[in-house]
Amino acid sequence: MSLQSTDAQKKNSSATTGSDTAIAVINPATEEVIDTVKRGTAEDANKAVAKAKRAFREWSRTPANTRAHLLHEAAAKMHAHKDRIIELLTLEEGKPVCENEEEFEWLTNTFDYYAELGRHERGRVSPSGEYTQLNMVLKEPYGVAACIIPWNYPLLLMAWKVAPALAAGNTVVIKPSELTPLSTLYIFEKCWDHFPDGVINIVTGYGAEVAEPLVLHPDVPVIAFTGSLAIGQRIASLAAPMMKKLHLELGGKDAFVIAEDADPEMAARALAYAALTNAGQVCTSTERVYLPSKKAKEFTEALIAHVKSLKLGAGMDPQTDMGPMIGATYREKVEGHVAEAIGKGARLLTGGKRPEKLKVGYYYEPTVLANVDHNMVIMREETFGPVIPLMEYNSFDEAIELANDCMFGLGACLLTSDTLKAKMFLEEVKAGTIWINDPLTDNYAGPFGGMKLSGGARELGQEGLDEFRETKHVHWEFNTKPKSWWYPYGK
Ligand code: NAD
Repeated sequence: MSLQSTDAQKKNSSATTGSDTAIAVINPATEEVIDTVKRGTAEDANKAVAKAKRAFREWSRTPANTRAHLLHEAAAKMHAHKDRIIELLTLEEGKPVCENEEEFEWLTNTFDYYAELGRHERGRVSPSGEYTQLNMVLKEPYGVAACIIPWNYPLLLMAWKVAPALAAGNTVVIKPSELTPLSTLYIFEKCWDHFPDGVINIVTGYGAEVAEPLVLHPDVPVIAFTGSLAIGQRIASLAAPMMKKLHLELGGKDAFVIAEDADPEMAARALAYAALTNAGQVCTSTERVYLPSKKAKEFTEALIAHVKSLKLGAGMDPQTDMGPMIGATYREKVEGHVAEAIGKGARLLTGGKRPEKLKVGYYYEPTVLANVDHNMVIMREETFGPVIPLMEYNSFDEAIELANDCMFGLGACLLTSDTLKAKMFLEEVKAGTIWINDPLTDNYAGPFGGMKLSGGARELGQEGLDEFRETKHVHWEFNTKPKSWWYPYGK
């Protein structure tokens, strides 16, 4: 498959803006074209699946130890190319370089983690009915896994799918986001060339043109998708009649509850981090905040002071706290949510506009709103931008009810030292991850995923490997005499 070189020179935005055959990749901090990639077609998707299918049998037979060595080698090669990978990621995605250093650690550690988990076990032996029998539960690879990736964590979310899929013995076809394909293409060319041909494949392009053919392809039994609710629903409707294994990681609208006993300074920093990391473009970004009305003033004042101190700028500048948003339409959506909330009575405490000093780039000021309620879109639908809406509650029971009053159930955060409140929250809030006093800290061994419309898939941990393995029960009798209960029933 021909792939555009990812080492191309930075071009002026007027030079290339995409075409029938190419897609321009834009730096969101400058609005300039960084490079172009191939605008893939259904034919490209079909060719990639054919290669992956041909490679599957040999790869699934490859000893788990060998697969582990190849995955560790991939991690080592990515380390050797660390600086360029982080640079490309920062240029195309926009978040600060320190956040991309962290994403890089997740990328490589995930390969190392699943290298080991993949050779640990492949099922279990269960007690059998008779001494002469053996009952085994085998975990087997599905075949070709399509891995469809969003732009907000292009490498981490790719690794969370590709590493377990390969460790389990599947081959993969990766479809990176059309907004952020460059770092993945670079890794494919420089860091994965030691895998047997066809084990890892990439197709670039728009979702409808190149990812849908993967979803519909009869030789792709697993669709691993992270992205928006609307596209997840479309994929589900296309793939469900074909009985495919669907691994869907969709949107979120995470609640952040601050209990009365929390310290305002600590709360301000934790909250800003949870809501503004990656300019609020994290599936588990805090998007709804619930404050105790008795101490709302103190918490709000500390938050405003902290948010106002943050520095906006390009991700490549090490002084930057918050980078641009990914693109114009995403920023317009945030502006629409803020305007609707203000129109319904929300109070703007800071931000709420594009920064005057940054005329170029898709920047939006970190924004705090008060006096919001659940009739506003900003408290119901995913905003995916740097906005912190504050709502007051009168009792902790009410805070839990408000946290659960949401169609999504991805993550939820709580700040408290009150152990009973913490226990209530972790048991009663419907969310795939609960963070208490340390928002948005994930763990390689801790399954990550959602409830309700956030999708039911799990990545990371043992569960993340099992998403790419199907279960087979084997019943084996060593005594080859006929059984007494076989035909004929009559004497
Ligand atoms: P998106 O749904 O627009 O796109 C995701 C991927 O799907 C892209 O590669 C895109 O090209 C592809 N796609 C588009 N149309 C398609 C189609 N018809 N068929 C198949 N694939 C198609 O999402 P996005 O804007 O890239 O990412 C942001 C979204 O991702 C947010 O909603 C966010 O919450 C979600 N997200 C969820 C998680 C999670 O773990 N739950 C993590 C990160 C992001």
